[in-house]
Amino acid sequence: MFSYRHAFHAGNHADVLKHAILVQILDYFNRKDAPYWVIDTHAGAGLYALDGEWAGQSGEVVDGLDRLLGAPRPPELVARYLRAVQDFNPDGVASRYPGSPALALHALRPHDKLRLFELHPTEIEVLESTLRQLGTSRRQVSIAREDGFGGLKRLLPPPTRRGIVLIDPSYEDKQDYRHTLQAVRDGLERFASGCFAVWYPLVQRVQAHEMARALERLPVEWLHATLTVRKPSADGLGLHGSGMFVINPPWTLHEELRAALPWLEKTLAQDEHARHTLQTHAAAGSPAGASPAGKPARPSRPAEGRAPRAATRPAPAQKRSPGRK
Ligand code: SAM
Repeated sequence: MFSYRHAFHAGNHADVLKHAILVQILDYFNRKDAPYWVIDTHAGAGLYALDGEWAGQSGEVVDGLDRLLGAPRPPELVARYLRAVQDFNPDGVASRYPGSPALALHALRPHDKLRLFELHPTEIEVLESTLRQLGTSRRQVSIAREDGFGGLKRLLPPPTRRGIVLIDPSYEDKQDYRHTLQAVRDGLERFASGCFAVWYPLVQRVQAHEMARALERLPVEWLHATLTVRKPSADGLGLHGSGMFVINPPWTLHEELRAALPWLEKTLAQDEHARHTLQTHAAAGSPAGASPAGKPARPSRPAEGRAPRAATRPAPAQKRSPGRK
């Protein structure tokens, strides 16, 4: 399990989807003064050097964040995310990429709390040093060198009874799919009103498909967004897309994603197989939700038309520049 380093993937298309949604959820929670907790079961290193060895080697950011920089008219969900990324790059060059702990800290008010889990010995060291640099207090932020699936149980429900749980394993171990599903089920028993956000990869693995279907069968209010950027490879390797499954989502998230997903699809498309889906489900008896009959709404249709790839890429001079001062 210790072969996975998120630095290799920082700022790729999957991070864009996950982090744009996370930033929206945080923004929504900040609309009320009442304190809340963020629990990140798989924290990673916190902040990544885009000009460093790892990200530089993989180049995944080029087909992720880089494509968004300077792209015209980003919808609000994307614009808010880009503003958050920009705040970590005050000199205007996107050389640092904030992972989920950094994005959470960026949003948190002094009375909110962040609880992080990470198992990788090097990632923990980097995470601790990042948090020191960001000047966090121990009262507000804690890092546990512990299995995030197990640790989550003892933190739920948070004393504030308001909380966001991000479950974002690497899924290198195929048991992660089962553990994620179980963590959500256990989590809902302890904290039924919690906002649970699960990221997962669109890969050619039956476990990924089964986990998504099992999450959709949960009798709770949920939103499910996927973004595919290219045709799956013949050898089954690589990440052609990803999904975010959000339980008890902010009621504003569906509308924002309806505007953002076609734009993201067009901007991040690597070939004509790019597409997105967006489904919601209202809990039985709940007036909320976008599907009146309590059934999943039909997946949204792929956006019409595809921008030519070259047209969606930033010009070299704009690359790595948030450019949205
Ligand atoms: N959430 C991060 C973000 O969005 O910036 C990225 C996390 S990365 C996909 C997954 C991380 O989980 C890796 O750093 C890995 O070392 C860590 N990890 C793997 N298994 C774990 C476990 N059982 N508990 C906690 N962390 C784990």
